[in-house]
Amino acid sequence: AQKRYADLRGVPAQDKSGQNVSLMMNAGLMADLPSLNSSGADGVGLFRTELQFLIRSRVPRRGELAALYKRVIDAAQGAPVQFRTLDIGSDKVVPYMKPQEEPNPAMGWRAIRVGLDKPGVLRMQLQALIRASEGRPLSVMFPFIAAPDEFNTAKAMLMREIDRESTLNRPVPRDVRVGAMLETPSLAFAPDSFFAACDFISIGGNDLKQFFFAADRENERVRRRYDTLDVSFLAFIEAIIARCNANDVALSFCGEDAGRPIEALTFAALGLRTLSMRPASIGPVKHLIRRVDLAVLKQVIDAARARGDQSVRHAVTAWLASQ
Ligand code: PEP
Ligand code: MG
Repeated sequence: AQKRYADLRGVPAQDKSGQNVSLMMNAGLMADLPSLNSSGADGVGLFRTELQFLIRSRVPRRGELAALYKRVIDAAQGAPVQFRTLDIGSDKVVPYMKPQEEPNPAMGWRAIRVGLDKPGVLRMQLQALIRASEGRPLSVMFPFIAAPDEFNTAKAMLMREIDRESTLNRPVPRDVRVGAMLETPSLAFAPDSFFAACDFISIGGNDLKQFFFAADRENERVRRRYDTLDVSFLAFIEAIIARCNANDVALSFCGEDAGRPIEALTFAALGLRTLSMRPASIGPVKHLIRRVDLAVLKQVIDAARARGDQSVRHAVTAWLASQ
């Protein structure tokens, strides 16, 4: 099987009718970079920058971060890399941050909330990203945006840093794309002006699912209780796709479910055209996409929903087995 997937490296994830799906990889460590080549990924859809902060005993310096981000951009050789700014909260404990006692850390002071309330580290990180780009394109996305003003403030911070570099006659990114991670249901109902302000949106399915079903992703007793292919969750994903299409915003999905073949196929059939996953999943997902007609799968999904199935998993798996 490994060899079969390796043979697929250079071919597109294209279904039988010619529909393309872009498969990107999730990364966070230097050790992930060789996978950019070996997996056949179209780029890095999610670079989790907090890993560099979690593996150190002190806050990394701007120069260290810039050198590291530059290696990531270099390794991508022109393919897009979407850097996600720090997603640290009281559940992801960094040794040099005062531990927070919070009743519900997942819903607490984390990610962009920390970045906006204590902007020093976020600003330093944005400066490092700008320097690392060395005049090349730069994509930055902010995690856990729950309301448009959080995105606007963070985006303004990035733009201010770019202006500052420019004033100092340093190179600035040639093309800046700024995105939001959609991880809380609230954001799906934000006004059109929010969508218009985003260059792209990435669904953080791990968090979005936990808040949609109110089921803690860290809690073994409940984390597998609700199916990602539950028709309610799929209807929600479809609504997000529709809003992004209506506002002409690029949309991707970067939670762990994007790397599960049945889930990936279902998302693609519903209209998601970019999926970002762990590198090892790219081969298997591509293999399956190439074997099916996504429009036919969409009909199978619609029939299961019309029948009143709670989840489309059974219908999708049965149909796949018949292909
Ligand atoms: C997610 O929530 O789906 C996501 C991609 O971010 P993380 O898993 O790092 O919270
Ligand atoms: Mg998340």
